[in-house]
Amino acid sequence: MAVAAALETPMEQQEQQQLKKGIAEFYDESSGVWEDIWGEHMHHGFYEPDSRVSGSESDHCAAQIRMIEESLRFAAVPEEAEKRPKKVVDVGCGIGGSSRYLARKYGAKCHGITLSPVQAQRANALAAAQGLADQAFFQVGDALNQPFPDGEFDLVWSMESGEHMPDKPKFVSELARVAAPGATIIIVTWCHRDLGPSEESLTKWEKDHLDKICKAYYLPEWCSTSDYVKLLQSLNLQDIRTADWSANVAPFWPAVIRSALTWKGFTSLLRTGMKTIRGALVMPLMIEGFNKDLIKFSIITCKKALN
Ligand code: SAH
Repeated sequence: MAVAAALETPMEQQEQQQLKKGIAEFYDESSGVWEDIWGEHMHHGFYEPDSRVSGSESDHCAAQIRMIEESLRFAAVPEEAEKRPKKVVDVGCGIGGSSRYLARKYGAKCHGITLSPVQAQRANALAAAQGLADQAFFQVGDALNQPFPDGEFDLVWSMESGEHMPDKPKFVSELARVAAPGATIIIVTWCHRDLGPSEESLTKWEKDHLDKICKAYYLPEWCSTSDYVKLLQSLNLQDIRTADWSANVAPFWPAVIRSALTWKGFTSLLRTGMKTIRGALVMPLMIEGFNKDLIKFSIITCKKALN
């Protein structure tokens, strides 16, 4: 991956527009069925490695909350009243589960952006239904060109949206731009494995494998955790920390597959559309990617300097 931002060619611009359209349509189509079965969080659960997880959905929802809490803990987000986040941006917000959680936890104002109009509308409806209409706000917006001024937020949150971003340098520079001095930036995302010192790229098999996943989930080319670190370093961000949480999310995809194979899951899937069904069909490829150490579930956090 090129870690320096480059001007896009017209072809690349056209491809990015196509990708954005695909992402918006994918989430417009699939968010309802996901919410029916899994609820308001559209991200992996966090499990203790080797923990025995029962099949119950409430266990998995608790694991999704644990993902949020572990991410905050890893990034050392302050809990004390005067230091805790007061203004949060949720970049790639889904139907707003993280924002509402953070709004409640910190009493913060949270602004979410998504490419999917259906998600933005549903996120606002859920905020109103949960009494958070004056604390959690959602709109259609592009992470690569965020509709916010510089230095606006003291917590910048991207939970499993980075993998959709076709221009990682722009993505990361936008996260840094909207961060206030001293803000925490948290990126939880799918990466490919780091390359070895003598490797120039992934193997052909690995690239082909990721390509199949990209087509079904509307993802551009993947990057590694160390690519993210280089990008954060190039922007002079501080206290950069990473962890590989692949083992902590391992029970998640088998659980999603099991839920799709229940009568409710199966009939809901059939009622949605081809994009959602295609997404469901490649779920085993995600498991294989993790098992072969090709896919990494990474957290990458940093702070913006105070001056
Ligand atoms: N963070 C949410 C949803 C994760 S799903 C959660 O944890 O529940 C991925 C989300 O990223 C979707 O909402 C999708 O619309 C959003 N997304 C992908 N590319 C985006 C972009 N360029 N700008 C804004 N949102 C984007």
